[in-house]
Amino acid sequence: MPTAKPSSRLSHILRFTFFVLLLTSCSPTPAPFPTETATLSPPILLTPDTVTLDTETPSPTPIPQNPRPQYTLDVQFNYSTKTAIVNETIVYTNNSPDTLSSLVLAVEPTCTQSFTLNGMAINGVPTSNYIFDYRNAQAYIRHRLEIPLPEPLAPNGQVTVQINFGLILPIVGNFSDEASLCSQIYGYTAQQINLVDWYPFIVPYVAGKGWILHNPWYYGEHLTFEAADFDVAVTFTDGSLPVIASSGEEVSDPAATTRRFRIEAGRTFALSFALDYRVVTKNVGDVIIHSYYFLPYETAATAVLNATAQSFEIYSQRFGPYPHKTLSVVQGDFNDGMEYSALYYHSKGIYNNYDGTLMNHLTAVSVHETAHQWWFEQVANDQGFEPWLDESLATYSEIVYYETVQPDVLTKWWWTYRFDPYVPLNQVDSRIYEGDGQRPYWNKIYLNGAHFQQDLRTRIGDEAFFAFLRDYLAQMRGKIATTDDFFRILRQHTSADISDLITQYFQNPH
Ligand SMILES: [Zn+2]
Repeated sequence: MPTAKPSSRLSHILRFTFFVLLLTSCSPTPAPFPTETATLSPPILLTPDTVTLDTETPSPTPIPQNPRPQYTLDVQFNYSTKTAIVNETIVYTNNSPDTLSSLVLAVEPTCTQSFTLNGMAINGVPTSNYIFDYRNAQAYIRHRLEIPLPEPLAPNGQVTVQINFGLILPIVGNFSDEASLCSQIYGYTAQQINLVDWYPFIVPYVAGKGWILHNPWYYGEHLTFEAADFDVAVTFTDGSLPVIASSGEEVSDPAATTRRFRIEAGRTFALSFALDYRVVTKNVGDVIIHSYYFLPYETAATAVLNATAQSFEIYSQRFGPYPHKTLSVVQGDFNDGMEYSALYYHSKGIYNNYDGTLMNHLTAVSVHETAHQWWFEQVANDQGFEPWLDESLATYSEIVYYETVQPDVLTKWWWTYRFDPYVPLNQVDSRIYEGDGQRPYWNKIYLNGAHFQQDLRTRIGDEAFFAFLRDYLAQMRGKIATTDDFFRILRQHTSADISDLITQYFQNPH
């Protein structure tokens, strides 16, 4: 899309602002929040004082050479009330061979009823033409936002979507219904605020399959992310000065009122704020690794930093280079871990149980989550339907780490500690919905997935196995790999018969 002239840009802004104000005055009162969130501040309703479309950056200049989606997010965050007003702009290029009549976005905060849509514009023109039942649909399906386009979007065509929305963060893990699916990290705790999967994003469109958006499930991740560029600005409207952990590299002065972060070719942009974060830092080459933690966990946080940095070096050598400038580890104020772009959360309980050795969950999970910066962040996959692609490789990367740092003792320990206690289950190629429970799901996808990788390596030899992994990364970096891609690229590196392994480990022929 060509850059709008200043005069037409201004008229678009005025029209959009007018539309937002109109929407505010005539929109019905938001649906009541669940009792679990009754103690939160009332929903944000935009008023003339709070509606400020960013007049400085309303129409990002498209970069035709860069077909990745471009996300600009301007976050006005009230730390005291845990609420935000966000101006979001997405410049989206149709990279598919199909002409698109609409866009489909995932809006995950709807699951916890913490989202309010205030206004939307397409190519600068306000619109209320969208399909979005986010107040009434059941929690696990209300996240689908479909926006019919005013004109069909041809291949290589570009469209700009502006969305103004409000967030009222939930308490992490404070739901007993389906919303618990979506608040295991997103929200706030006594010490910490976590913005993960917090903004509407355009889900991947795959020719022949359509838009890739699956429902949340009780275990396993359901989202699939295109690689995109992010420019995120955060202003604390109540004057708070928390420490910020972020997916992006900071491009502002840390003392500035508005803090700004950028990442290129990231999958999903996470932010975490806390007044009491401490941080230990290490450089690996020109990449800065941060380990954010709470007192009194400095020893464990330093072990996390060291394991992350050491595995980072090993994976860079064995698989291929890391593309970003920072990597942040955040100690969760909850018992869960999860990977995001250039950032992962680490479970609080694991810090508590650290015993000072490498043979413990703290190290194993650190190197697992670090591996997701290769298998998830660089090579993405449909996590709902083909979770084995990233999880079997992230789990197997634990072996690659341990066999490198202390081959004899630690590798044997890994199988004894991480694998043997659990019932091995085949069906490595199950969807998250076929797991039959959290533990069987882990056993199938993570553990037997890793065992398949080990047997594959034994069958084809180290040289072919690592040549394959390097090539898989090189060919699929920035893309969304499928099981077919995995085996197609594998067969470019070996002519060994692996049909018995596939029969042993997989439900379907590959
Ligand atoms: Zn994982």
